[in-house]
Amino acid sequence: MINHLITQKNWQNQLSEAITSVDELLSILQLESLRADVYIPKHFALRVPRAFVAKMVVGDRDDPLLKQVLPDQQEQINVTGYVADPLSENTQNPIKGMLHKYQSRVLLTITGACAIHCRYCFRQHFDYSANMPTAEAKQNIINYIGEHPEINEVILSGGDPLNVNNRRLFAWLDALESVAQLTTIRLHTRLPLVIPARLDTDLLDRLSQSRCRIVMVIHCNHANEIDELTAEYLQRARAAGVTLLNQAVLLKSVNDTVDAQVQLSQRLFASGVLPYYLHVLDKVAGAAHFDSDERSSIELYWSLLSALPGYLVPKLVRELPNRPFKVPIDIYSKT
Ligand SMILES: *Cc1c(COP(=O)(O)O)cnc(C)c1O
Ligand code: SF4
Repeated sequence: MINHLITQKNWQNQLSEAITSVDELLSILQLESLRADVYIPKHFALRVPRAFVAKMVVGDRDDPLLKQVLPDQQEQINVTGYVADPLSENTQNPIKGMLHKYQSRVLLTITGACAIHCRYCFRQHFDYSANMPTAEAKQNIINYIGEHPEINEVILSGGDPLNVNNRRLFAWLDALESVAQLTTIRLHTRLPLVIPARLDTDLLDRLSQSRCRIVMVIHCNHANEIDELTAEYLQRARAAGVTLLNQAVLLKSVNDTVDAQVQLSQRLFASGVLPYYLHVLDKVAGAAHFDSDERSSIELYWSLLSALPGYLVPKLVRELPNRPFKVPIDIYSKT
């Protein structure tokens, strides 16, 4: 019932009413005893919309959704090899707000804001204020694409590109659609899981009218993130002609079991989404406790190959600075 009330509100109200208080979150989940383990770093506060909290199990301290958002003491631990900018992104932007690392596609960080703060996020230390495209940067980006005929796809990312309102988002779509060489516009977003109502009719209508192919890569780590309502919204997006893919991050004690991965793939498929990437964790400072060692990741992957049809097995990849693609993990390696 509470769930129903939350999810009927328009997405912008849901966005502004996200939980930012640890005490409130723990009280809703009846987990006040966890308070002592919480630590909130100044640069990356707690933030979680109520529609996402509603998918957590009350009283379960090991809930896989809770683990992704509850700041933990372990974030303070300094672990060698885990750094602020693991992908050296701060140095790979020819224009403010744009990354051009991969030959045929550029990635735009059109906002630094996210509806949810995921504790393992590799962009948690990213300097968005120095990397946000301004109005004039938008024109520079369009010009840059024109000067690089090899680019045929633009990825809107962030932060979360669906965190911006439709007016601003549509202005980006208008600008990109006017560039004849672009065939595809892609959105990398976690909002369909976090506030499903973000996939509102105006947005889906606009996407269905695009002259470009629209790809939406959602970011779902666990089957529990897709309840019935979420699945319904995803199906609507699909009906609007959007190609839906998923990228997940392999996270210790969240989704690092065969069972969790199989369920995730099956639930995604039942909602019209195909698994795309399974990323091993980017070694960002504060997230070492989410990392699973390479040997067990590879073993897990072999089990997935047996358990799932090929089209439901995501590509297991690692992102490395200075590589022009996501690097496949060598599952034959003996390390
Ligand atoms: C991940 C990423 C892309 C997209 O990679 P695909 O393999 O096409 O999904 C593009 N640019 C940057 C900078 C990226 O990090
Ligand atoms: S939604 Fe994506 S960019 Fe935002 S905090 Fe989570 S992982 Fe990071």
